[in-house]
Amino acid sequence: MPAHAQPSSRIPQRPHVVFIMGAGRSGSTVLDLFLGQHPLVQSVGELCNFVHDGWIERRLCSCGQRVPECELWSRVTELWKKRSQVDLEAYEELRNRVEKRRSVLWQMFSRPSPEQVQLGKDVRGNFLTYAQWTAGLYQAICEVTEKIVVVDSSKNPARGLALVLMAERLDLIDLHLVHLVRDVRGFAWSAKKSFRSDEQAGVARDIRGLPVWRSALAWTFVNSMADLVRRRHETSRSLLVRYEDFVSEPTPVVLQLAGFIAIPPGPWVELLHSDRPIEPGHIVAGNRLRMQRHIRLRPDVEWQSKLSFAEKMVIWLLAGWKARSYGYHYRPAASELDQPVGMTSPPTGHPLAGPHFLASHDRQSTGSSPVSESAQP
Ligand SMILES: [Zn+2]
Repeated sequence: MPAHAQPSSRIPQRPHVVFIMGAGRSGSTVLDLFLGQHPLVQSVGELCNFVHDGWIERRLCSCGQRVPECELWSRVTELWKKRSQVDLEAYEELRNRVEKRRSVLWQMFSRPSPEQVQLGKDVRGNFLTYAQWTAGLYQAICEVTEKIVVVDSSKNPARGLALVLMAERLDLIDLHLVHLVRDVRGFAWSAKKSFRSDEQAGVARDIRGLPVWRSALAWTFVNSMADLVRRRHETSRSLLVRYEDFVSEPTPVVLQLAGFIAIPPGPWVELLHSDRPIEPGHIVAGNRLRMQRHIRLRPDVEWQSKLSFAEKMVIWLLAGWKARSYGYHYRPAASELDQPVGMTSPPTGHPLAGPHFLASHDRQSTGSSPVSESAQP
């Protein structure tokens, strides 16, 4: 990281943002961390929660420091405030309106101009204020890190739509949308698990497991929204990625992503073929994996043996129609089946290890698959 925050000549005026969109528990943190290993790319996790989790609740960054004590985020925030004159509390209020209110989401879809999107009279600022402050945060990240691409895995399609308006109507950012989708049954299995709050392990609050029918409906709704947002953006700047393809055969997916974002694929391909540990990250919010030391890309097959027949049937009845549109089938292909130990070759993939990620709750030591359990909002 550079010792000063002067803008580099290679930093574009409009920040280049790669937004990972889709349902939670879909492996977005794994993809985000992986993409951030490129020397031109800064991975930031769920940036939507940066102000709330980082500055209001003072949660841990993945480097192990509290956000206000983290050198990178302190410098980013200082530059952001200086350049954009941002008020963090006012920004958080605006962000909640834009990214969480259904009435605002509807306006963003239906109003021809972003200036016409009404956020209510009881907030300081309007959609334009939100847009300029959000773009200012991305720009500050680029300048402080001297990276040319920021990967934001906030996932929320409403934020994705706001970013599309910022890119296409307001010309504030350069945006590539990655719609990440995971098999609904893998999603439902992951969402069924409960977690107790454990900040050191990256679990900010208690998480109660969901019944599979509810997960199936939520998955269908969020991915339908993500489809609509993806179609709102330029075709050449929107990409659908299946998580299973990324973890089982990462090289073709990585080459496709490099071409899509227009950066050289070399560092990612080299990482896939080496045992090199990942560099320490600075992810404020996201899946608990961000706080772990070892992450391994492995096929996502645990749901096949863990979900009951009845659960699989319920999920498929509710969400199968949508899953088929992404190329999933009720019976997985032979190559995707969970094979008994000893009857299959070692899982393809690459171990990612980071000495600066906290070691507590490292699931490698328990022998369980961290990636098939990867997702949590
Ligand atoms: Zn940090």
